[in-house]
Amino acid sequence: MGPCMKCGTWCEAVMYELSACFEKLSFFPDTLPVADVGDYLWMEEFCSCDCRAAARPSVLAKHDIPVRYPGSGPVETCARCGAPVDMTAWHLAVYQIDMRIVSDVVLQPTNGTLLAVLCRRCCPAEAGAEVEPAVAAPKEAFTQDV
Ligand SMILES: [Zn+2]
Ligand SMILES: [Zn+2]
Repeated sequence: MGPCMKCGTWCEAVMYELSACFEKLSFFPDTLPVADVGDYLWMEEFCSCDCRAAARPSVLAKHDIPVRYPGSGPVETCARCGAPVDMTAWHLAVYQIDMRIVSDVVLQPTNGTLLAVLCRRCCPAEAGAEVEPAVAAPKEAFTQDV
């Protein structure tokens, strides 16, 4: 589904992503929070865990994202400035996600780790936070797996 951004190998069956998207969580009793996913700010794709691990420090440095491994709310801490982030409002979420490529249009996440969240001051609202999400398909939020 694309060349590895580290070594150029074409990714066909699995893809290892680093991505930042706008997200908003809804909390319900007795179940995992449900995430609405909005626009992606950026996404980098790799052929293997090794390529991603090798590239991760420079990718995150390029986007100025310190890794903090936040939980899934309802309130977490901005990775840049330390301000509280209301996870139930639109905010930027930076994920490391393993994707299984099912078809040209279907990608199935198999594993995910939330690396950081950014508050609205650190990630301006005009970058998509106030608009209706382009993709409104709810998914279960990833649980932390460190
Ligand atoms: Zn690679
Ligand atoms: Zn901040």
